[in-house]
Amino acid sequence: MPKYTLPELPYDFSALEPHISGQIMELHHGKHHATYVKSANEVLEQFDETRSKGDLSKIVSLEKSLAFNLSGHILHSIFWMNMMPKGGGQPEGDLRAALDRDFGGFEPFKKQLTQVAATIMGSGWAALVWEPVGGRLLTTQIYDHQSNLSQAGVPIMVIDAWEHAYYLQYKNQKTTFFDAVWNLWNWRDIAARFDAARRVQIALDRR
Ligand code: FE
Repeated sequence: MPKYTLPELPYDFSALEPHISGQIMELHHGKHHATYVKSANEVLEQFDETRSKGDLSKIVSLEKSLAFNLSGHILHSIFWMNMMPKGGGQPEGDLRAALDRDFGGFEPFKKQLTQVAATIMGSGWAALVWEPVGGRLLTTQIYDHQSNLSQAGVPIMVIDAWEHAYYLQYKNQKTTFFDAVWNLWNWRDIAARFDAARRVQIALDRR
């Protein structure tokens, strides 16, 4: 039985134009994201099989595949919801105050997250995460979908920096794409994720 499902987009494929073409959105959601969902479910089935046969010889490749595909599903799901037609501008309220506190203002934050996306070697993501141990926001440069993470960080805002996210429209001009996404942010969604993430309690010392 499938554990993960492909979420419907909250807007039409072409709704993010001109910043992201409808063709990219249709392929990205319907092919790339869908494959991560399918593969994550298949890996879970393989884990079931592994346990029922008592043969753990494939555990390393199953763990790698689960981390890759499940993280791909989660990051894409957040990315779609982080964006909206006619989005952009700047956040207000508690999220804005936290960005000001942890990055020294909105513009330094924007510059940092954009640079995190632009400097990824190979495929990856730029993420704004809430780090519950220190109680602060951090940027994270994610390799593939799952490497280079701080363990407790909760992603609240992400930028897909894989070539499939922009190449059909932007070709080798990826920094133009990383600038364009700032016209799409749904700050209400990002602020709601921030509020939920801040409720995560990670006490390292339980005495
Ligand atoms: Fe992607």
